[in-house]
Amino acid sequence: MGKIDLHIHTTASDGTDAPTQAVALAAQAGVRVLALCDHDTVAGVLPAIEAGRELGVQVLPGVEFSADWNGREVHLLGYGFEPAAEQIAGCCAWSVQERAQRNREMARRLAKLGHPVDLAVLEQTHPVVGRPHFAQELIRQGAAASVADAFARFLSPGTPGFVQRRLLPLGKLTEAIRGAGGVAVLAHPMHYGLDASVVRALVADAAEMGIQGLEVYYAANSAAQTADSEALAREHGLLRTGGSDYHGARKPGLRIGMADVPEEILPPLLARARYT
Ligand code: AMP
Ligand code: ZN
Ligand code: FE
Ligand code: FE
Repeated sequence: MGKIDLHIHTTASDGTDAPTQAVALAAQAGVRVLALCDHDTVAGVLPAIEAGRELGVQVLPGVEFSADWNGREVHLLGYGFEPAAEQIAGCCAWSVQERAQRNREMARRLAKLGHPVDLAVLEQTHPVVGRPHFAQELIRQGAAASVADAFARFLSPGTPGFVQRRLLPLGKLTEAIRGAGGVAVLAHPMHYGLDASVVRALVADAAEMGIQGLEVYYAANSAAQTADSEALAREHGLLRTGGSDYHGARKPGLRIGMADVPEEILPPLLARARYT
């Protein structure tokens, strides 16, 4: 017995714990199966697997991509793929390049607003630079009081610092994950700010495109959101997964292992993954 957490971020993307530190924290929290789901990179996966062997934590390869679904941004998780697969590497490389362009434009806008962010420094210190890194820099400059404040005033859609980056289509990312031997899972369906009817359409469409699972158990879910997610997974015959979306200090309030992920979801998930 032990806890399961299939969604955390590390310093490989926008978390604040190194992959090996995150595995140590997971072991301390009583987690026995963990997946790193860094944005657009698998750089943390092999070091985490290695650390997990020492500490008795099974670490699954994982990744989180932002995908385009009918002009909206949704997130797709991949699990248990071949870590060195070219399909995954290709999607990561494309997305990181799009981030670089988006980040340049965001830095330009923030500078015009009187908050110059040194993007070169951010890119030297973080392999995948995202909006949370901009948030941290705005806090450091005194331009924002917290990560939430930075997003609310500068970094969310509709605010003057926000720039939408181009995203790969949901179907294409699903194909890449499956082609690499992995399991494609739609992340946190209740956290896109979509009406219930649109969430239903999203899950139906994603299932049609070949996604195999739904992230049902999620630390930020209400009990009703989890129940609705469970019903959607059942309706479409999807695997269930779950996790905390832990980001270290960049998302205060989340801890590794805090999502209540039932044991029973694991065997069917592992059975469909090539690399566990
Ligand atoms: P990016 O992929 O660079 O566009 O940034 C997305 C990241 O920002 C994800 O990790 C989100 O969890 C985080 N994020 C998005 N909106 C907010 C928000 N309102 N407050 C805090 N973090 C957020
Ligand atoms: Zn993140
Ligand atoms: Fe996400
Ligand atoms: Fe995430």
